[in-house]
Amino acid sequence: HVPTVAIVGRPNVGKSTLFNRLVGKKVALVDDLPGVTRDRREGEAQLLGLDFTIIDTAGFEDENALTLPGRMRAQTEAAVASADVALFLFDSRVGILPLDEEIARWLRAGSTPVVLVANKAEGKAGNDGVLESLSLGFGDPVEMSAEHGEGVADLFEALLPLL
Ligand code: GDP
Ligand code: MG
Repeated sequence: HVPTVAIVGRPNVGKSTLFNRLVGKKVALVDDLPGVTRDRREGEAQLLGLDFTIIDTAGFEDENALTLPGRMRAQTEAAVASADVALFLFDSRVGILPLDEEIARWLRAGSTPVVLVANKAEGKAGNDGVLESLSLGFGDPVEMSAEHGEGVADLFEALLPLL
């Protein structure tokens, strides 16, 4: 059984960038504009010898609906429910926004184990966001930079006991 990891989070936090780094080739669309990834994307990830299937989601990117269920695409719901672990990314430079809190509430209501990831933390940036994120209730986040490849060993250590 190859374990499955789903990447979730609000638009523009770096989900597709992390997906691309772990899969090692450009499979998902990455763009400066939020909401560019429109499909669920899967790939075979390798992280320091850990092999797993990784899913890039974009289920919180429809800003028309007023409620979380309205914004949550069925694909994301199914991906997280069937995953062994959810990687919950936030932007450590921006800090915690209401949508991050809504996603956190939704994840807490489910049963999939969550690893909280403070992305865009290259060069020790984003300390304020890291402190804010403690209120989400998932403990200390893994601080990393998907774009620059920092914190990969910390992500490995967080995932290892869960896969
Ligand atoms: P998604 O909407 O969550 O899938 O986010 P993307 O992966 O498309 O990234 C959104 C933007 O954030 C892009 O401009 C990325 O280059 C940028 N980004 C992603 N990861 C990092 C990071 O670790 N550090 C910085 N500074 N920017 C990042
Ligand atoms: Mg994306």
